[in-house]
Amino acid sequence: MNSETCLIIGAGQAASQLAFSLRKEGWLGPITLLGAEAEAPYQKPVLSKEFLFSEKTADDIAIKSTGAYEKKAIHVQRHAVVTKIDRAAKQVTLSDGQQLHYDKLAICTGATPRHLTIEGYNKANIFYLNSFIDAQSLRSMISVQQPKKAVIVGGGFIGLEIASSLRKLNIDVTLIETESRILARVSAPEISSYFTALHQQAGVNIILNTKVTAFKGSDTVSGVECDNGAHFDADLVIVGIGVTPNSMLAEEAKLEVNHGIVVDAKGQTSDPDIVAAGDCTVQFHPQSGRHLRIESIQNAVFQAKKAAATLCQKTIPNEETPWFWSDQYQTKLQIAGLSLRYTHTIKRGTNDKFSLWYFDGEQLQAVDCVNNPKDFLFAKKVLTKHLPLDQNKLKAQDTPLEETCQSELEPV
Ligand SMILES: Cc1cc2nc3c(=O)[nH]c(=O)nc-3n(C[C@H](O)[C@H](O)[C@H](O)COP(=O)(O)OP(=O)(O)OC[C@H]3O[C@@H](n4cnc5c(N)ncnc54)[C@H](O)[C@@H]3O)c2cc1C
Repeated sequence: MNSETCLIIGAGQAASQLAFSLRKEGWLGPITLLGAEAEAPYQKPVLSKEFLFSEKTADDIAIKSTGAYEKKAIHVQRHAVVTKIDRAAKQVTLSDGQQLHYDKLAICTGATPRHLTIEGYNKANIFYLNSFIDAQSLRSMISVQQPKKAVIVGGGFIGLEIASSLRKLNIDVTLIETESRILARVSAPEISSYFTALHQQAGVNIILNTKVTAFKGSDTVSGVECDNGAHFDADLVIVGIGVTPNSMLAEEAKLEVNHGIVVDAKGQTSDPDIVAAGDCTVQFHPQSGRHLRIESIQNAVFQAKKAAATLCQKTIPNEETPWFWSDQYQTKLQIAGLSLRYTHTIKRGTNDKFSLWYFDGEQLQAVDCVNNPKDFLFAKKVLTKHLPLDQNKLKAQDTPLEETCQSELEPV
């Protein structure tokens, strides 16, 4: 292992973590990140949040400083688009024809936004938000053209965070969602109602049960048309309707792929010399009984740590409870666990500071915490240790959280 080369495809959250974790686990050979973008690895969450109304640069949002990579002898090759993995020859090919040998390979290629290919899809001022360049283009369009009316397509986290950022810039916002409520894929109706009211109070026009069918205008978008005949004027459109995993390289290399690169709990793909981590992967989650693709920083970081330990033949870190956060206006939502399967919920707290506990029978599955970091920390511990909770005590609002736990738990 002393002089073996590890190539990492991608230079985002998972790739950066994997490289540093490899060094921590004792990898001595060369490590190279091959990133398609011009920037060194940066934090994506900020792109839909304060980045849009600040003057932050790529350096400001870098995951690590340039010096930190140099210090650990981690080479970051930018503008390096990998086009092929040759598993037999153990080499990758870049778009400029360069061929690079690996002993071990990590795939951390992330995901690509789903595009709407409806009438007028290629007009100017229609944006997707996934990369630094996307966010920079959107920010500079806003600053130069000073749009008045935006339509956001999609009521998931990204659409809602962008709505919040645009309202801060005083742009009128209409948000159009096909489902009967926002956040329908990830949260219970109580959470959807809370965020609907939050956005409506901030002046966002939320339109549900509606599909955008065409972008109108000449070269530049001037409005959107919907399946129910409704029309909304817009000089700016942002589409946030989900992502698809960048698993094509893996598929072409005949690795196991099933709506994402299949990895086991150790980050291993179907090739013992190749690991993968982050948004491009699917992994079996015993709690939900199926393979899941989780798009979150926690998942990218944790899978990268496990993959690095695997490559170094070290002990894999203990399983973590998945967690996620979203910032909208002054509200922070923190989610612990996965609420994919539940029979009922219990709400604790007041209108502006509460937590929603998802149970499958007796089993706690997840907790959504609105402006409530204390409950979030408690929930994470309970979920990680699989501790039983007394649901009656949980329902009684005045019972301190610690007393709802039927096992010994250190204070939060
Ligand atoms: C706007 C936005 C807001 C978000 N907010 C939150 C949040 O609040 N909380 C949260 O937990 N998560 C959030 N996320 C999700 C989180 O950022 C991702 O889950 C995380 O970045 C995934 O890390 P990754 O390394 O798998 O992918 P990425 O960080 O996307 O990195 C993948 C990299 O691989 C590169 N790449 C792809 N193909 C190739 C190739 N063939 N050759 C070379 N390079 C390639 C890409 O250019 C990219 O740089 C947000 C995401 C976005 C876009």
